[in-house]
Amino acid sequence: MIQFIDIDRQYQIIKKEILQKIEEVLDSKEFISGKYVTQFETQFATLHQSKYAIGCSNGTSAIALALEANGIKAEDEVITTPHTFIATAEAICHVRAKPVFVDIDPNTYNIDINKIENAITKKTKAIIPVHLYGNPVDMPALMRIGNKYNLFVIEDCAQAHLATFNDQSIGTFGNAGAFSFYPGKNLGAYGDAGAVITNSAKITEKIRKLSDHGRSKKYLHEIIGYNYRMDGLQAAILLIKMKYLKEWTIKRQEIAKTYCELLKNNVIIKLPQKHLKANPVYHLFVIQVNERDKIIQDLKKKGINTSIHYPIPLHLQPAFQHLGYKKGDFPNCEYSADHVISLPMFPELKKEEIEFICKTINIIVK
Ligand SMILES: *Cc1c(COP(=O)(O)O)cnc(C)c1O
Repeated sequence: MIQFIDIDRQYQIIKKEILQKIEEVLDSKEFISGKYVTQFETQFATLHQSKYAIGCSNGTSAIALALEANGIKAEDEVITTPHTFIATAEAICHVRAKPVFVDIDPNTYNIDINKIENAITKKTKAIIPVHLYGNPVDMPALMRIGNKYNLFVIEDCAQAHLATFNDQSIGTFGNAGAFSFYPGKNLGAYGDAGAVITNSAKITEKIRKLSDHGRSKKYLHEIIGYNYRMDGLQAAILLIKMKYLKEWTIKRQEIAKTYCELLKNNVIIKLPQKHLKANPVYHLFVIQVNERDKIIQDLKKKGINTSIHYPIPLHLQPAFQHLGYKKGDFPNCEYSADHVISLPMFPELKKEEIEFICKTINIIVK
């Protein structure tokens, strides 16, 4: 069986280092925030050429903290894509603002930058572009709109660790970048964790305060905050894994290249597309096909597991019914939701496995 993602292979390679580190953290009792989190923050900021990084509890809280620290509040509108994991829009609701969706570019699956201006109203305060599947949004183009209308830009980098656009790290174009270290992400903890990166000292301080019960020192709470801090254990695990992130990212890119060479890009299979200046990190390798259900079943019969990201667009989710969207509002997003398949993708995927997957698909669609 070829799993869609197999995190055990990676664990077996780094197991000794991880277990040693876990013992070290338990001995130190630095369980919440503390020295491992500080070390992690310094290294993660450096890795993304950002001035500051703030560790937090998960990717969803990272987005919410970035929004709140930039002053996004009740009644504000925040523009984002309907073709993403629910957390992007959930976080907007967590600060009691309103998600406003804009359709996607059918080639990159990212927000269609040309359609953003139409969605801007007097209430619009921010844009959250999502670098979906690890494929960077054209950030210079997006920032031109953000700057023109004086909007905050929070990048959802949950799937795009180390991705760059025009050789600049994603997460550093806007006011802040939010990352997730959910176990299956390109940099994954062994539990929940997240981080915000920013070049602003003010935003950094605000996020630190918000994420730690609004406190400025012990038992002095200046604002109402949250318990959104990072665990020392997760920070220590991420410190180990971060050493390998570049190497793992290159492997993902090589796997994507092999897929593209062996699969036939034609009317039946649409391969991933990217902007010329984008350097994607392939959190997922997503193709688009007709007769998706049949292909998924046939692959399963041959022992290949796949997945769908995401089968139900956010504007059609029951949780967002109150926003008043209906089927047909975002045709490109809806088309993708019905036709995309995510093929197995993780750095330890073997060449023979990729060859087998491609051979099987090419026979199925012939
Ligand atoms: C994973 C993910 C998140 C949320 O991260 P959590 O750590 O699970 O809270 C947000 N946005 C996108 C695009 C994601 O893939």
